[in-house]
Amino acid sequence: MTPGRPVPPPLARPVLPADTSTPLPGAGLTVAAYGAVSEDSGLVPLTLSRRAPKSDDVEIAIEFCGLCHSDVHATRGEWGSQNYPLVPGHEIVGTVSRVGSAVQDFAPGDRVGVGCMVDSCRECDSCLDGLEQYCEKGMTGTYGAKDARNGDAITQGGYSTSVVVDRRYVVRVPAGLDPAAVAPLLCAGITTFSPLRHFDVEEGDVVGVVGLGGLGHMAVKLAKAMGARVLVFTTSETKVPAALELGADEVILSRDEDAMAAANRSIDLIIDTVAAPHDLNPYFRTLRMDGALFQLGLPADAMPPVNPRSLMRRRLAYAGSMIGGIAETQEMLDFCAEHQVVADIELVSAARLNEAYRRMVEGDVKYRFVLDTSTLQAPAKEADA
Ligand code: NAP
Ligand code: ZN
Ligand code: ZN
Repeated sequence: MTPGRPVPPPLARPVLPADTSTPLPGAGLTVAAYGAVSEDSGLVPLTLSRRAPKSDDVEIAIEFCGLCHSDVHATRGEWGSQNYPLVPGHEIVGTVSRVGSAVQDFAPGDRVGVGCMVDSCRECDSCLDGLEQYCEKGMTGTYGAKDARNGDAITQGGYSTSVVVDRRYVVRVPAGLDPAAVAPLLCAGITTFSPLRHFDVEEGDVVGVVGLGGLGHMAVKLAKAMGARVLVFTTSETKVPAALELGADEVILSRDEDAMAAANRSIDLIIDTVAAPHDLNPYFRTLRMDGALFQLGLPADAMPPVNPRSLMRRRLAYAGSMIGGIAETQEMLDFCAEHQVVADIELVSAARLNEAYRRMVEGDVKYRFVLDTSTLQAPAKEADA
């Protein structure tokens, strides 16, 4: 593997000045949604207004939206105060219903996806390098973010029947993949694909995956598709056979000290997806010379300190990574189509969202809940213009 491989160049999409985007004649939609109205409200039925598409916009009739652990952290205020009501959801798959006049790369009926961001400054080095998620001015998240190009409205996510997104942040869902099982690729898939690609994982490399949830199970599938040998570290004894079925070559119970010691110096790259604070030092011991641990989970509480000595001994790197850029997200979807990789999902109705959150926190999901938006109540109707 070659650490630091450059990301693919951004898609050839001309960057238009933002203000050329004018609303289409016609109204926005009033759409059914589920979201939180306070930190402890749980998810309740809500109604949202979506803007009429502007000339660069794509209006999407949402079919499916994955449930990410980040949605739990955010709606419960675990990452700090939020703007409520908050409709979560950033693993969106649907079909295009309307497009603005400047949109040439998408047409009504196309199956498309939207991930964790719906805008960025489009001018900084990160944006110009196709790394919009690291926009120097801050990317605009798909929910709970101020949308500077749309009057500072707070963005609302995919637990809803429709969304309007600038075409630059929309990706194409390849034909031949189950659209419900594609939805989790838009966050869990790209978040694990990006660090695997950054390290140019290839045949012969050994990848460790810590935590077998939504992100973790995608890391296993993607690393296997790249030709790596994969070791899974889990706290759940019940997940051992399932991890092997997913393609893991070995499964280690992380609370078993002897099993952890047996894995010492055997891994090139660790993808850590755990959603709760945990000690990383035992994992550093499992890394080979020049190995790296990418922490992807963002627990609400502080982590135990990393011992610098364990990093120095074998020139190890401790890194973070956040989702992936738009071009890289498209590359990931195309890679998944080529290798027939999708998420293992459990489809849920809107009425079961709160139960799904509870089960996710308890680690009781194999491996991603996906909301079937046809179960959201009120039918979409035209809003006042
Ligand atoms: P998830 O489906 O809930 O999986 C998390 C896994 O962590 C669990 O299945 C469990 O696996 C393990 N775990 C161990 N102890 C735990 C505990 N006390 N509480 C919860 N989980 C525990 O979550 P996810 O959607 O994959 O997200 C994982 C983390 O990544 C979250 O913090 C999320 O916010 C973050 N995230 C980051 C990015 C990014 O861009 N960096 C993107 C998306 C999500 P075992 O049972 O196998 O031990
Ligand atoms: Zn997510
Ligand atoms: Zn930028």
